[in-house]
Amino acid sequence: MSDLPAPLRDVVGPLTFATREGTPLERIGGLEALVRARLTAWRAALPPDSALQGRAAVWLEALAGCETLAPPARRARLRLVLDGITALDAGAPAATPSPAAPTPPTGAAAPAPAETPALDLHADVRFLPGVGEKRAATLARLGVHTVEDLLLHLPARYEDRRQLTAIAALVPGAAATVRGKVLETELVTTPRRRMRILQAAVTDASGLGGLLQVRWFNQPHHARQLAAGSEYLFSGKVAYDRRGTGLVMENPEFEPWDAADQALHTGRLVPVYPATEGVTTRQLRRWVATALERVDVPEPLPAPLRDRLGLPERGAALAQAHRPDDPEAARAATRRLAFEEFLFLQVGLALKRGREARRRTRVRFRPAPGPLEAALLKALPFRLTPAQDRVLGEIGADLARGVPMHRLLQGDVGCGKTAVALLALVRAVDNGFQGAMMAPTEILAVQHHDRIRQLLDGVPVRVELLLGGPGRRGRKAALSRIAAGETHLVVGTQALIQEHVAFHRLGLAVVDEQHRFGVRQRARLGEKGDAPHLLIMTATPIPRSLAMTAYGDLDLSVIDALPPGRRPVVTRLFSESRREAVYARVRREVEAGRRAYVVFPLVEESEKLDLAAATEARAALAAGPLAGLSLGLLHGRLPGEEKAAVMDAFARGDVQVLVATTVVEVGVDVPEATVMVVEHAERFGLSQLHQLRGRVGRGDHPGQCLLIASHAVSRDGRARLKALVESHDGFVIAERDLALRGPGELFGRRQSGLPELKVADLIRDARLLAVAREAARELVAADPDLARPEHRLLRRTVAARWKHRLKWGAVG
Ligand code: ADP
Ligand code: MG
Repeated sequence: MSDLPAPLRDVVGPLTFATREGTPLERIGGLEALVRARLTAWRAALPPDSALQGRAAVWLEALAGCETLAPPARRARLRLVLDGITALDAGAPAATPSPAAPTPPTGAAAPAPAETPALDLHADVRFLPGVGEKRAATLARLGVHTVEDLLLHLPARYEDRRQLTAIAALVPGAAATVRGKVLETELVTTPRRRMRILQAAVTDASGLGGLLQVRWFNQPHHARQLAAGSEYLFSGKVAYDRRGTGLVMENPEFEPWDAADQALHTGRLVPVYPATEGVTTRQLRRWVATALERVDVPEPLPAPLRDRLGLPERGAALAQAHRPDDPEAARAATRRLAFEEFLFLQVGLALKRGREARRRTRVRFRPAPGPLEAALLKALPFRLTPAQDRVLGEIGADLARGVPMHRLLQGDVGCGKTAVALLALVRAVDNGFQGAMMAPTEILAVQHHDRIRQLLDGVPVRVELLLGGPGRRGRKAALSRIAAGETHLVVGTQALIQEHVAFHRLGLAVVDEQHRFGVRQRARLGEKGDAPHLLIMTATPIPRSLAMTAYGDLDLSVIDALPPGRRPVVTRLFSESRREAVYARVRREVEAGRRAYVVFPLVEESEKLDLAAATEARAALAAGPLAGLSLGLLHGRLPGEEKAAVMDAFARGDVQVLVATTVVEVGVDVPEATVMVVEHAERFGLSQLHQLRGRVGRGDHPGQCLLIASHAVSRDGRARLKALVESHDGFVIAERDLALRGPGELFGRRQSGLPELKVADLIRDARLLAVAREAARELVAADPDLARPEHRLLRRTVAARWKHRLKWGAVG
């Protein structure tokens, strides 16, 4: 409230306290007199022509005789004054009353005792008294737009301030909160270790022994927040320092003590919000308190469900999550809010699946392989592994059901997803339909196309490659062959989903490396036919909890074994100082006739930098450890055709070492490649590294992956990389990545369509997620459109969530 005019500053706390529901107003005296005195002082200092003169008059009017009113009427008037004053603070101009705090007509008699002005949960947060335009903009950066968002912005933790301890009563070894006055501060630097210590001597009224040393290590900036002579709350663990002054508190949390405001900040478990630029925990506490007072929180969860799971009501949960009675109440509240977040998501998914299941498709395949598929199976240079067989069976069953398939096929790099997809695509052709396969890059599209043609050698299936670029040679002819149905299978990039691409009879669309595509693109492919089947493939092993959210509308198939004879890639971790030894290995392999990748992290912020880094890296290698070898360079700025040319040269062996900054293009299959060096390995996600190493050792010789970690890498960073050295299980690695770096990292930063979770946590709340999923399925099974009256609010909430938060296809 620092922006308030001085005379009004300390009336806000008492007014807030007095107007809260539950405060025994009849026992509060003298408040009106105080506020009147302050208002009068403030008004006297205003210029006579100020527009605020009128407001002051109205508020003084409202306070006249206020003490004698019945509590509800008295509360309403006090609230009116409070709202007016806090709106000043928010910088809201007097001329634009917010809907929350209507301005009474000037000169009118004291306002009629009103009901508490209620705020809608979905109201813009700037209408919350005390917030205003400026701070609303800051809140928006936290993702807080509405009052509800604010209430779902939960504390990072709570501080137990149920009791303040007198300094004289402090016990070493225990945590405590102390209210004390700073006598002096001092910043010292230790001679040997150059540590900067900020010390403050703090005292309270507890008499003899009431002196506490407070110190912070290497946080000199706190000096600016501490003024000698002012009072603060300090919370932390107390220790006994024999050399110094006795009792010390090290690195405590602290905040100014504000007598007027103590009800908000002391005497209970108080919330501590995640630190953010521009908004303080104290401001949040106040806004949340106001919001909790003002909003009516409806309950979207059906009562039987809540009873069964022992979940508190929504309104109570929001209140307890911010201002808990005790730690147990805080836990129950958070659990309820995490649950509902999962439930809204899962109900949306269940509705979507339900609708899809009711949608019929005329694309219905015969359950058994036709002649083309049988011919392909015979022509394959290998036998399907049991895992491939099983998955093909799952897909085949879907294709015969008369309901469009939506299936996610997961499997590590090299497990043979392409072969399975091709067999399914050929089944489409056997049934008189076309098939399409979409790859994320031109190089991968070309490789799939070539590989598929190779595998189909002697099988009469016509395959077409479709890349972007309207001027491309032969493109027009290809498009008309596709439209006429002369082409059976189309392999391509995103060019496949452009508007002018028309299929004759698309029956099955396969999307490779799904995490490179947004959900919208996937949907667009589905629109290319009359409800065609969709198979989505990814080499990113997706932890179960994430699959249930990000891909919760898909059925899941997993190829969990590599083809026989595949040896796991030997992975080793080196520090920078061993770089020479690493490249000596590379040289040995290349001189023995094999090929190597050297991967540098992509500098995402700037393609120019990326290019510079890559060019430099290659030059350094060519001049140094890899002198005399043939080095190729692949980076993000290279035009598609040049990329393809470099890859071809690498596949042929004209290029022996491929230096790459773009990871995608490494997603190709060159059996002679046996070594992969990853520079600055610590900058990659574990799953990404796991996929990268899957690119080597795909031929007769074992592969090795040599990770180089920078000196600067932390101990945690090193431990993380060690996990990769020790494990070959993509799921184990993905779980670790998810735990350490969050879902965004697992999929790459640009992944769209991942649900944004405000309260729930995929790791911590994994079990709750499973419960929510089950509950959602039951609800939708019993009431497929959630049309029953007791489900109406749930349905509305879900629809709103999906619309605003998820940017997925529409629900409901
Ligand atoms: P993914 O797309 O899952 O990374 P691919 O489909 O590209 O893997 O297969 C990797 C390699 O394994 C290819 O060279 C492919 O021909 C081969 N392959 C696939 N299935 C088998 C199998 N059952 N037995 C032996 N090799 C296989
Ligand atoms: Mg693949």
